[in-house]
Amino acid sequence: MNKTININMNKCDGDGICLTNCPNQVFELREITTDEYDSLNFLGKFKTKIKGRVKSFAVNFENCVECGLCIEKCHERAIQFI
Ligand code: SF4
Repeated sequence: MNKTININMNKCDGDGICLTNCPNQVFELREITTDEYDSLNFLGKFKTKIKGRVKSFAVNFENCVECGLCIEKCHERAIQFI
């Protein structure tokens, strides 16, 4: 695995589609901390107020096989390889 997964917290709405589609349990949902909330931009804060504070985190990134399903399925286009 040469790449890293980046989840844009300003775009993620925490619906868990990445969890559902990842074959290797890379993702976990949790509420963002106050510091993480403070780091969001205006639109990210607005989305969080509408959708809630739960967002996705790639906690088991070492399990990723670069299949790309999470990127393909995320309707918010919040996930990318970097
Ligand atoms: S690329 Fe595939 S294995 Fe890697 S996190 Fe996304 S869905 Fe999971």
